[in-house]
Amino acid sequence: MTDVLIIGCGVIGAAAAMELSKYKLSVTVLERENDVAMGTTKANSAILHAGYDPHPGTLMARLNVRGSELAKYYCEKLDVPYRQCGSMVLAFTRADLDTLDILYDRGMKNGVKGLEIISGDEARKREPELADTVLAALWAPSAAIVSPWEMCLAFAETAVKNGVKIEFNTEVTGLERDGGCWRVTTDRGVREARYVINAAGVDSDTIHDMVAEHDFEVKPSRGQYYLLDKSEGSRVNTVVFQCPSEKGKGVLVSPTVHGNLIVGPNAEPSDKHDTATTAEGLDFVRETAKLSVPGVDFSKSIRNFAGVRANAGRDDFLIRKAAPGFIDLAAICSPGLTSAPAIGEYAAELLGREGLELEEKESFELSRRRIRFKELTDEERRKLVARDPSYGRVICRCETVTEGEILAALRSPVPPCSVDGVKRRVNAGMGRCQGGFCGPRVVELLAKDLGVTPDRIVQDREGMWILKEETKGVPGSV
Ligand SMILES: Cc1cc2nc3c(=O)[nH]c(=O)nc-3n(C[C@H](O)[C@H](O)[C@H](O)COP(=O)(O)OP(=O)(O)OC[C@H]3O[C@@H](n4cnc5c(N)ncnc54)[C@H](O)[C@@H]3O)c2cc1C
Repeated sequence: MTDVLIIGCGVIGAAAAMELSKYKLSVTVLERENDVAMGTTKANSAILHAGYDPHPGTLMARLNVRGSELAKYYCEKLDVPYRQCGSMVLAFTRADLDTLDILYDRGMKNGVKGLEIISGDEARKREPELADTVLAALWAPSAAIVSPWEMCLAFAETAVKNGVKIEFNTEVTGLERDGGCWRVTTDRGVREARYVINAAGVDSDTIHDMVAEHDFEVKPSRGQYYLLDKSEGSRVNTVVFQCPSEKGKGVLVSPTVHGNLIVGPNAEPSDKHDTATTAEGLDFVRETAKLSVPGVDFSKSIRNFAGVRANAGRDDFLIRKAAPGFIDLAAICSPGLTSAPAIGEYAAELLGREGLELEEKESFELSRRRIRFKELTDEERRKLVARDPSYGRVICRCETVTEGEILAALRSPVPPCSVDGVKRRVNAGMGRCQGGFCGPRVVELLAKDLGVTPDRIVQDREGMWILKEETKGVPGSV
């Protein structure tokens, strides 16, 4: 029997796991996919929002502002790519100017620091590529950009280093209260826990319905994106938003921590797991983004992707006790990424109120360092290669990722088991050729490490095979 069982290892489950690993508790995370950050956490705008958007007095407002401070702290401690570049919300019309006033006012009430409404000319002075039609902007210096999957991974690795167990490829299918504890049925047997946290993202309503009356429904909303080549990466230096509407925060143009430009998202109803992109969705994103930054060169697009928001038709997260010893971290739409560390903290507090003993561990370890060969000086590279020659073999040419970095990821507390899992950890395959060159070498290294034949290696998840076993009869096969 485990003290706490967490369902889902996106950024919310991982943050809760890391928080609970500070205490003398046994904690298990069940994740149906083969890796962390396989849901919404890997497909979003990657912004740590300042906190002027949520309505004052909501849980979302409090957790957004607290989360953005904590995220900054943890990213620094855990070596997660993070840049506090600030954000602007642009106004093009009189109605937009009123919206800026509302956002400024909300931000002040929410405790966001440094907010300022600046003129269109001042905004263009700071961001020369902005359209001439921009009348004014809300400037938020505390907004930041981050690597969302690496933040999730860093939380999960910290949790594991401090004793948490993560079981991948394990889907929760049922929950039952049994003599003061929870019997959790999965497709790989039954687990028992004193307390359960529901961090199942777009499926948090399905999990909730297993323990309590149906009282909310996730209404998924898909957002599509362009990711542009590094040659477009400095088109803007800050996150450039348009005014938010009831559909979401609108289409943004933003640098990424990896040096690319991200443009999107739209907002459209979808199925929970439908992350396809469409010509219409992308057309909308392109045309809308050009109103803010007309010069974006979309011919430099290297990838399109989509993520699904766990909206539930309300202006707040749904974080509460749903049954005895059972906490919902549900409807975690945007700014869920920003709020994650604060949600983790709050989840522990709620479990404490439910009777969980929270005795701190003296041994809690909060540190993580990753070698990024690309960022080293020539002298540092020489020394490293002399110590370990695998750092002298470049596997991904676009991103200058070495074999040594991939091997280090394979030996990390939460190792990858797919080509995309390697990509999320060391950036191999993230460049202009999108893995065309390094893919086969990554497959080879994974197969060797996992002790399987290369045809067993998947691109991302079960069924996404890269190589075919049967080559008999195919011209050129041996
Ligand atoms: C288009 C878009 C843009 C966004 N932009 C931002 C942004 O810029 N900034 C920001 O702060 N937020 C943003 N967000 C919101 C943010 O991405 C999410 O709030 C956050 O990623 C949610 O994390 P999660 O852990 O709740 O969900 P997920 O990452 O989806 O994780 C849930 C996990 O639960 C697992 N799971 C589900 N059911 C089961 C089961 N039965 N058994 C076992 N495992 C299960 C899933 O496999 C999944 O891994 C955006 C979201 C979208 C869609």
